[in-house]
Amino acid sequence: MSDHVLVINAGSSSLKYSLIDGHTGEAAASGLVERIGESESRHIHHGPDGDAEKTRAIADHEDALRGALNAFEEHGPSLTGIDLAGVGHRVVHGGSQFGAPALIDDDLVAAVTDLVPLAPLHNPANLEGIEVARRLFPDLPQVAVFDTAFHQTLPEHAYTYAVPLAWRDDHGVRRYGFHGTSHAFVSQRAAQLLDKNPADVNVIVLHLGNGCSASAVQGGRSVETSMGLTPLEGLVMGTRSGDLDPAVPAYLTRELGFTTAEVDRQLNSSSGLKGLAGANDFREVSKLRAGGDAGAQLAFDVYCHRLRKYIGAYYAVLGTVDAIAFTAGVGEHSAEVRAAALAGLGRLGISIDAERNQSASTDARFISPDDSQVAVLVVPTNEEWQIARETLAVVSRSC
Ligand code: ADP
Repeated sequence: MSDHVLVINAGSSSLKYSLIDGHTGEAAASGLVERIGESESRHIHHGPDGDAEKTRAIADHEDALRGALNAFEEHGPSLTGIDLAGVGHRVVHGGSQFGAPALIDDDLVAAVTDLVPLAPLHNPANLEGIEVARRLFPDLPQVAVFDTAFHQTLPEHAYTYAVPLAWRDDHGVRRYGFHGTSHAFVSQRAAQLLDKNPADVNVIVLHLGNGCSASAVQGGRSVETSMGLTPLEGLVMGTRSGDLDPAVPAYLTRELGFTTAEVDRQLNSSSGLKGLAGANDFREVSKLRAGGDAGAQLAFDVYCHRLRKYIGAYYAVLGTVDAIAFTAGVGEHSAEVRAAALAGLGRLGISIDAERNQSASTDARFISPDDSQVAVLVVPTNEEWQIARETLAVVSRSC
């Protein structure tokens, strides 16, 4: 058996895949199928000889995955020559049942199906990817790697909302947290950069992509995180509001006659940077801000203020902090967000070296001065590699 894993991330109208060596993290190929179900679906395959792009009608996820397998044969590397170790699937919600990745069988599929009400946008698509891959690779072990699993170590006082017992006991209303594969990968990589064992360091991880979340990782275990029952809670995101007074939805339904579905849709899709600046892409917000746009300036200020609040809160939760690690699109690339979020925190032992912060390097790196008490790091995330290595670990245990 090789160390190669086919990693699949199935969304409602998209399918991302990568062929990764779970041991080294080297990606032999990857691809993205978008606009599944439309007449002009787009498939891009990044193979050893460059990119191959196709536009055609792709009916469903099975059609998409078959297209991906054809692309492997046409543009390489051929899967027939690789003794795949297994298929690793990203699954968004694992509820309280899954604190670790697990081998996929009918019982797991049933359990993930039961969790659909908690992740109605994501789990059905993830299940679709699983069903298709099980049909196309009936002899390969398949592993589910859950976004929520890394945060299952949150202590009860951190995951419990102060709401009635029946909501908590009968309906699973609690904090689960998401982006777990990224928080796990980045916190481990941070320990490596500090030349320490993950068990010996406390790290605040700031995952700032389209979705944004923070976590406090103590000795390798997540003890607090900003997303909750759903990915809506916490930091300001591309289109999601993050924290707000829980009375706002009731106010809007009462005063404006909004349905709950409409409030939910607007908080998830029309809020965050989009609601404040009219653009959800951070680069676009930066351009508008540079041109003097007041909404974009406010968006930047609200975004960074929320981030600072979480950094302060997680510092208090951890007591001592060895590193603060920025990751994902905005975290890895926006020097101005990193600078604004951490400005003036010298009394907490946190400082940034301006030149290191501005560096265009894409490597994992320190951006704090050498003598800084708290290391400030930029760590490119690699969720696909994390899924591949967790898949490998499950497969080798089950052999
Ligand atoms: P996803 O959550 O979809 O994986 P990413 O981690 O790719 O998202 O992050 C996407 C976000 O990162 C977008 O808001 C994008 O504008 C932002 N981003 C990407 N590159 C840069 C950059 N060079 N400077 C600032 N923001 C960037």
